[in-house]
Amino acid sequence: MTDFRARYQFRKELHKGLDQLSTRDKGPFANRGEAEPFTRAAVEEIQHLQYKLFTEGKQSLLIVLQAPDAAGKDGVIRHVLGRMNPQGCRTYPFKVPSTIEAAHDFLWRIHACTPAAGMVSIFNRSHYEDVLVVRVEGLVPEPVWQKRYEHINAFESLLRDRGTRIIKFYLHISPREQLKRFGERLKEPEKHWKLAKSDYSARKQWGAYQEAYLEAFSRCSSDEAPWYVIPADRKWHRNAAVAGILLETLREMDPQLPDPSEDPELIRQLYAEAKAEQNDGATDE
Ligand code: ATP
Repeated sequence: MTDFRARYQFRKELHKGLDQLSTRDKGPFANRGEAEPFTRAAVEEIQHLQYKLFTEGKQSLLIVLQAPDAAGKDGVIRHVLGRMNPQGCRTYPFKVPSTIEAAHDFLWRIHACTPAAGMVSIFNRSHYEDVLVVRVEGLVPEPVWQKRYEHINAFESLLRDRGTRIIKFYLHISPREQLKRFGERLKEPEKHWKLAKSDYSARKQWGAYQEAYLEAFSRCSSDEAPWYVIPADRKWHRNAAVAGILLETLREMDPQLPDPSEDPELIRQLYAEAKAEQNDGATDE
């Protein structure tokens, strides 16, 4: 199977513009029928490895999700990332900062949601909004957001030094596919709660957002905290590629079940004694 990480990792030497990167790539799959069984098997192994990560209690994993509206952050969480055991995994959506959040530095609210040892945090939007929407909408002066790339790199380096692995996904869709999905939302009353005027104003700024994404990836992607640009026009490919990258990352982290804290032989004896004491003739049927 493809090495998904090598295939989709953003590299500033290679990628001069996001428009050079395909939104419709199918990866190693001919069609949905090939991709979906792969995703199912990958999710199963992810669940197993995440269980080990949780019980090991040493390493942690931070997954960052960024995307234009309707690119499928919710879908990726529903079909892939959200399948991890909630005991060891939390999702944090980052919205417009509250008054108290805005009264602190931009990483204050983010740091509080980073994963403890053994845990996985999924960021639905993230500290990158502070160099994306903030930049495009001119919410703070340029000298303020310009310094943030450095702050982000130092922050992510701090997390890594503590044993947190970081992977960052950008779901890459075309404006054509986005408009198609906006149209589908209009036809489905169940999705009407998602309708927002702001989706259309952000769409008018497509080029400015793509520039801001490109700069964020160019300045804040490294082998230690990589950005992956996931072709996301085909939902089945998007899910398979995210699952593939997460699986490869967890395999490399190689979490180990802890050694038993008690001698299993001793516990076996206690079990045999308890079983003999219980000898009441009833069956477990
Ligand atoms: P979804 O993406 O799941 O469809 P949503 O993320 O658009 O939903 P919203 O309630 O619209 O849900 O909140 C997200 C909004 O918050 C986005 O418009 C995003 O740009 C904005 N936002 C997030 N972080 C910041 C920030 N640091 N500064 C300003 N705006 C921010």
